[in-house]
Amino acid sequence: MKTDKSDILTCLRNSGDYVSGQQLCDRLGVSRTAVWKVINQLKEEGYRIESVPSRGYRLVESPADVYSESEIASRVHTKWAGKRLVFFESTGSTNPDAKHYAEEGAPHGTTVVADRQTAGRGRRGRSWESPAGRSIYFTIVIRPAFAPDKASMVTLVMALSVAEAIHEVTGLDTGIKWPNDIVVNGKKVVGILTEMSMTPEMNEIQFLVAGVGVNVNQESGEEFPEGLRGTATSLKMESGQQFDRAGLLARILEQFEQDYETFERTVNLSGLRARYESRLVGRNAAVRVLDPAGEYTGISRGITETGELVVERETGETVLVYAGEVSVRGLYGYV
Ligand code: ATP
Repeated sequence: MKTDKSDILTCLRNSGDYVSGQQLCDRLGVSRTAVWKVINQLKEEGYRIESVPSRGYRLVESPADVYSESEIASRVHTKWAGKRLVFFESTGSTNPDAKHYAEEGAPHGTTVVADRQTAGRGRRGRSWESPAGRSIYFTIVIRPAFAPDKASMVTLVMALSVAEAIHEVTGLDTGIKWPNDIVVNGKKVVGILTEMSMTPEMNEIQFLVAGVGVNVNQESGEEFPEGLRGTATSLKMESGQQFDRAGLLARILEQFEQDYETFERTVNLSGLRARYESRLVGRNAAVRVLDPAGEYTGISRGITETGELVVERETGETVLVYAGEVSVRGLYGYV
């Protein structure tokens, strides 16, 4: 949760200039000694902060890729997404953590972030490879007023927000593999897992949690287990650049807040569909639908306003594919 540390860091970062010790005390309602202690802690963490007796403190430089609660909190400028933040160096998986906080009443937008997951999860009991120091793992708590049958669209909203935020920060051309994977040059960089908790009467949503894993700074395929090397990649491997995870996470949360609000106004994807489709991989190309009831191929034509994939089968029949039990592949590979 918010600390004096993140508040002070936010003040210094937002000002970009000297902020007097007195101003910091007044703004945060703490003593001079408390401010001085926090400044020293920040310096120990690698922040370069100049102190000039008559002027105060100035943030000169942040260490590269600091990933901590105060660093993330000082960068997130939103109304609700990530306003409440919980950070773990290591946890099993951020989705169950977020559910736990939601059950205890955590507000809409509460976000759990971890540097490492020891039991990261994907859809249908799959696992998500989650090493330390490289990636972003977060889960956001959402408290919707809409009906349970609308919930699966939130996954598509998140996919769009993450794809666009990554594009903006890295310049990479991000594609969305329906419904919820993000790919760069045909390989997966992001996985998203949305889960729903219902009220005891089972007729309303109690809350949703949307979990996101982004491979950011892996240097090469060797950092992935052998089985994933053909399909997984990282932002660094695709761009040659190292990225600051806190900054990227903040951008994702800002974009999601905006897109979720657009979605919530109509409770469908009408305001987001064009942007989603412009990133949809394999659009107007052949796809293979791995339906447990029987695999088939067809041409992917886009999505509906409620998030189903529109596939034109060879028979001429148009089918709507519902996310859930189904995976979609390119005709000859992953995309
Ligand atoms: P698909 O629809 O492609 O079958 P999915 O959407 O069901 O997959 P997810 O739940 O998003 O899959 O992710 C789990 C899968 O992603 C794992 O089975 C594994 O193949 C792959 N995977 C696991 N960890 C990573 C990672 N860090 N980066 C990329 N891919 C990963």
